[in-house]
Amino acid sequence: RTADLTGLPAGVSEALHDEGIEELYPPQAEAVEAGLTDGESLVAAVPTASGKTLIAELAMLSSVARGGKALYIVPLRALASEKKAEFERWEEYGIDVGVSTGNYESSGEWLSSRDIIVATSEKVDSLVRNNAAWMDQLTCVVSDEVHLVNDRNRGPTLEVTLAKLRRLNPSLQVVALSATVGNAGEVADWLDASLVQSDWRPIDLKMGVHYGNAINFDDGSQREVPVGRGDRQTPALVADALDGDDADDQGSSLVFVNSRRNAESAARRMADVTEQYITGDERGELAELAAEIRDISDTETSEDLATVVAKGAAFHHAGLASEHRTLVEDAFRDRLIKCICATPTLAAGVNTPSRRVVVRDWQRYDGDYGGMKPLDVLEVHQMMGRAGRPGLDPYGEAVLLARDADSRDELFERYIWADAEDVHSKLAAEPALRTHLLATIASGFAHTREGLLDFLDQTLYATQTDDPARLEQVTDRVLDYLEINGFIEFEDETIRATPVGHTVSRLYLDPMSAAEIIDGLEWAAKHRSEKLRALDGETKPESTRESDTSGGFQRASEMVTAGGDGENGSDDEFESDRTYPTPLGLYHLVCRTPDMYQLYLKSGDRETYTELCYEREPEFLGRVPSEYEDVAFEDWLSALKTARLLEDWVSETDEDRITERYGVGPGDIRGKVETAEWLLGAAERLASELDLDAVYAVREAKKRVEYGVREELLDLAGVRGVGRKRARRLFEAGVETRADLREADKSRILAALRGRRKTAENILEAAGRKDPSMDDVDESDAPDDAVP
Ligand code: ADP
Repeated sequence: RTADLTGLPAGVSEALHDEGIEELYPPQAEAVEAGLTDGESLVAAVPTASGKTLIAELAMLSSVARGGKALYIVPLRALASEKKAEFERWEEYGIDVGVSTGNYESSGEWLSSRDIIVATSEKVDSLVRNNAAWMDQLTCVVSDEVHLVNDRNRGPTLEVTLAKLRRLNPSLQVVALSATVGNAGEVADWLDASLVQSDWRPIDLKMGVHYGNAINFDDGSQREVPVGRGDRQTPALVADALDGDDADDQGSSLVFVNSRRNAESAARRMADVTEQYITGDERGELAELAAEIRDISDTETSEDLATVVAKGAAFHHAGLASEHRTLVEDAFRDRLIKCICATPTLAAGVNTPSRRVVVRDWQRYDGDYGGMKPLDVLEVHQMMGRAGRPGLDPYGEAVLLARDADSRDELFERYIWADAEDVHSKLAAEPALRTHLLATIASGFAHTREGLLDFLDQTLYATQTDDPARLEQVTDRVLDYLEINGFIEFEDETIRATPVGHTVSRLYLDPMSAAEIIDGLEWAAKHRSEKLRALDGETKPESTRESDTSGGFQRASEMVTAGGDGENGSDDEFESDRTYPTPLGLYHLVCRTPDMYQLYLKSGDRETYTELCYEREPEFLGRVPSEYEDVAFEDWLSALKTARLLEDWVSETDEDRITERYGVGPGDIRGKVETAEWLLGAAERLASELDLDAVYAVREAKKRVEYGVREELLDLAGVRGVGRKRARRLFEAGVETRADLREADKSRILAALRGRRKTAENILEAAGRKDPSMDDVDESDAPDDAVP
């Protein structure tokens, strides 16, 4: 019983009682028995929705009650704010909660006053690198979704971070929450923790396969769901869940598919189903929600989402803007949206239980594999685990789809009767070790090769491997690489990070990215005159103007014609008004680092970008690989395509045009923009540290990416609430700077902002205007030229 719990801050167990949590769920009780509230380490491998969060809370709260400090590590940024909001209900009992996201390069000293801190593993890793003082005070750390150590990209960071935190405080309580995996015992061994493993769920889960006209469940029962004509299994299943006599009986569905495009097209089909089940009141609420979605952005994705939401369905994938995602998740929990068609990202963490889960696609295209590959059991189980809303549904139903009896049997074997896979450390991969070894040296965790190997011995990799020699080999290779690139130096046995090495580690860059950036900027310094001459002298304005109209993608023509004539100047000092390196050159440089996910080349792209590559050749920083160096040239072009997207973005091309031109979602644009901003910020730091004169050019290129504007709007777009579109409208209306915002005629400003008073007031206030009030201002008083 929660009332009998001891060691928690005063009032907490009563509060739990008031929330309806009177008795612990069996896995929770087992955890408490294993010493959870006395500071003992624990691995809890239990299904989704079986109360893992409370296990974490009990550990953290009791640790804080003993005068300690707790850290909760989440796998996704989106989850950080969700968890923080959840933990904030303890503030009433004197527990301060803080969340640390964003900017990698800071030590977040303000967090030292918090009792519970929520952060992603990348953020925690960077806090360790920046020597956050409060790290030493941690007494309890929770690692949510610890099975992600298996993830090729993100696993090593989590693994190394946990190893470092445990080294900082050997008596640290580690509570690792995991989905049910094959080898949870091994994870517990690694963390010197006891193991609570269970299949218990608060609400029954029936798993089955739909085939023919019925679902066959694992308990032997059947439910008839005829598909009717056209053999449409998914709509039939969604309609069947919604068929109930009263609202309480109506169940929502989550449909998992394997691509964004499929999520969108499935949602369109499901909207025709859900539309038949919404009430008059709901129709009104959904219309409002649709309007809210359109307000967030005016892209095609936004429009498509609004259209299906108005009918009670939605799609959900990583290409959606995060505001859109939140709206959809909330409306689904409120039962307003009846069906979400999602890619597997939704299954990872976000709390959206549903009466029925339909796993429509259990195969996915895998580029490395070169074809369709079956999903892991672990992944399918996580999707299925979203079925069943406690308190609302009698049980949850998770359904796979089969076309014939053979595939029905296969699906039962492959997913329903199968146990989840083991998790395996991915630490020995070279890119992971490159990053983490430099950080381990720079932050003082090890000073010798032996010390490094000793540190690595505390990782899951060491627990699992039976070939320790391999780790030694990779370690030696990586140390060589770091030394050659000037990030570390040896003095006899002692290894030290160089000043640049320290910076790279603090900036959270892959050392290979840093090396690429440094090489590029040094190359630019060396070839500056020659390249400026090429840009100013040899480029014909006519030809660039042509490309300007063909794509509308750039004002590179302005850049190209702005300089002086190419005849003057000596070899080493060529005078030009142009900033060099150019934005495109810098964007390309950061886009070819391993820290940027490049866009794929589609059919026809090779020709397009090869041509562009020759046209813009003088702008690239570094030698262009020859077309015969197949792989290198291909990579160069992918980076160019990605850089070109950024160039479109800073040329104020509509988001819609960009999504169309590159075949990406609005969320992807944001992703590329944020990564570029971070990498350019890092490049700026490296340039200034190495005394390279590109600092100004890099800063400007970064700011333009940040705001998505041409140069002349930088001042305006920096004002809070303005943004790229409003900045352009204001500028066209003659309000060109921050100072103009403080002084210009208000009716002019209001007209440029399409009569939005509240918006106008907020902007004026942010610009520092003394009397921002728009009362009594009439936009129609504005002169004609104020309306662009
Ligand atoms: P998980 O993190 O394992 O996916 P959650 O921690 O989100 O699952 O728990 C799912 C739901 O169960 C939450 O709404 C939570 O409030 C509720 N819950 C957790 N423990 C108990 C309990 N002992 N009694 C009643 N409800 C509980």
